[in-house]
Formats: sequence, structure tokens, C-alpha cells
Amino acid sequence: MSVSLLVVGSVALDSVETPFGSTADAIGGAAVFFSYAASFLSPVQLVGVVGKDFPADELQELETRGVDLQGVVQMPGESFRWKGKYSYDLQNRETLETRLGVFADFKPKIPAPFRDARYVFLANIDPELQLSVLDQVKKPAFVACDTMNYWIHGKRDVLLQLLRSVDCIMVNDAEARELSGEWNVYRAGRWILERGPTRVVVKQGVYGAVLLERERVFYVPAYPLEEVYDPTGAGDAFAGGFMGHLARTNDATAPNIRRAMVYGATMGSFAVERFSVNRFREIGPAEVTVRARAFSELVHFDFESSPAVPAG
Ligand code: AMP
Repeated sequence: MSVSLLVVGSVALDSVETPFGSTADAIGGAAVFFSYAASFLSPVQLVGVVGKDFPADELQELETRGVDLQGVVQMPGESFRWKGKYSYDLQNRETLETRLGVFADFKPKIPAPFRDARYVFLANIDPELQLSVLDQVKKPAFVACDTMNYWIHGKRDVLLQLLRSVDCIMVNDAEARELSGEWNVYRAGRWILERGPTRVVVKQGVYGAVLLERERVFYVPAYPLEEVYDPTGAGDAFAGGFMGHLARTNDATAPNIRRAMVYGATMGSFAVERFSVNRFREIGPAEVTVRARAFSELVHFDFESSPAVPAG
């Protein structure tokens, strides 16, 4: 049975340019990508802030998908806007503009019915605010967080304090390096594991994602897609699939966390197939199941049938 899943983070209007097209003021934000992805697996409780200009029909659609918006406050002013442009190979992006608007004064207030949340995702916001969320929730079973370079440099001490209170941090490889000062991803992971979390997920874009635990490493490839339009939100959709799977199974044991990695990779792969959250509007549970199952084919091989390596 699914138990409660809480996400706190940005709800945005994104303007994105890739070699394959562009969007203007399309729905986005880490908490939105997370919610769309997770909603295929579990109900979601969302805490965020929007301005008066945020399209009401977009909020309604989130509700239709089982996202509880009691924690979304509408403030006078402009919604958070982010503008980005990707390089030809989609491997690099430049932030052209960040307009914080009402997000500048965001102080997450967790509504009473959300405080019992069992699974909590702290999307990329000021680590002080991430800590304030943890003060407001009662006894979550599993907390994961994201962050970005801005906080790694600007609020390092607070971020290190946050690390002591989370079960898992999900970052991309550049962030893992900057946080730890280690270039090698496994060494970076070990450095982070020594500072609190029992699990580190390092997202590596087209190369997949690595789950690092103290004694073990697990790897999930990126789904082999022939068409990628817009990588925005892939990491947040990954987190949504990962946490959505944990919440629907209410199981954060090691084997289930490996399955969660696959649901993360599945939802991340859908996110990049269209601009904004549009791919999620096209698919249903059947597509999610088919793609998640396809991963077992992608990574399975029969080692036992290979002859022993000849003795030298
Ligand atoms: P990702 O591609 O995983 O980095 O996520 C992209 C999403 O993050 C976009 O939808 C943006 O609206 C949102 N975003 C960009 N900058 C920030 C920021 N400084 N704080 C919070 N969210 C942001």
C-alpha cells in the first residue's frame, strides 16, 4: 500500500531552448517534474509557492493526477522563472536568466496533514529551508535531497549539517565532485557517505546513474532513446520515479532501492522525450511498466553459461 510522499521545491515557468525547439513559460520546476513522475506510482503532497500569474489549469492538472496542492501557496507577485539554453549535443546548458519572483521569500510551511509523510524529497532549495522542512515533519522513513553548486559553495556548512539528517542525496557527477573535492565519482561517493547519508545517487545523464552504498555499488543505465528533445527536469523526474516507487511499496530495503533506481531511470527517460512535462501527459501506467521492465533485459546477462576463464 502506498504511503505518503512529500516533495518540497520549485514550481516554475521555464523557457528552454534546445537544438530541437524551444518553449516559453512552460510549466516546470523541480517539484513539478518530481510530482508528474511520482504520480504514476503514488499520491504526492507538494509544498511550493507560485505567483498570481501561474496558470490555474496547470495546477488543476496536477490535482487530477493525484498531487495534493494544500501546500502550494499563491503569493502576490510573479512566479519563479528560469531560462536555459542547451548545447548542440545536449550535454551542457547555460542558465540565461533566473527570476526568483515569489520564490525569493519561500519559507516552506508544511500543512498539518503532510507532517506525517513517510517519504520526503527535498528538491534543490536553500539547505536552511531543507532543514526547516525536516523540523516540521514527524518521523519519515526515508528522506532524500538534491542540491546544486550554488549551495555547495554558498552554504557549505549548512549543507553538511543537512547531510547528517538525510538517508540519501541525489546529485549529478559535477555536484558530487564539487561537494567532495574528489574527481573520481566513487571516491566522491565515499566522501559523502562518511558525512551522513547511507546512500548516494550520482546521476550521469546519458550514462545512467550510480547508487553508492558503503560496501556496494549498483548501476542503472540510461534508457536507450533515439530521440531526446529537452533534458530539463530529468534529474527531478528520476527522483520522482525513485521516491514514488519507495512510497508505493513502503519499503526502503536494499533490493527495493535497486528497483527504485530503475523506476527513477524510467521516469527520467520519459522526461527528456518532450519539452516541459509533455511526455508525461501522453503516457499511462502501461508505458511505465513496459519501460521499467525493459531495463531488466538491458542489464541481464547469463554469467553462469560462460566457460571458466582458462587457468594460466
Ligand atoms: P534539472 O534539469 O534537474 O536541473 O531541473 C531543472 C528545473 O529546475 C527547471 O524546471 C527549473 O525551473 C528549476 N530550477 C532552475 N534553477 C533553480 C534554482 N535556482 N532553484 C530551484 N529550482 C531551479
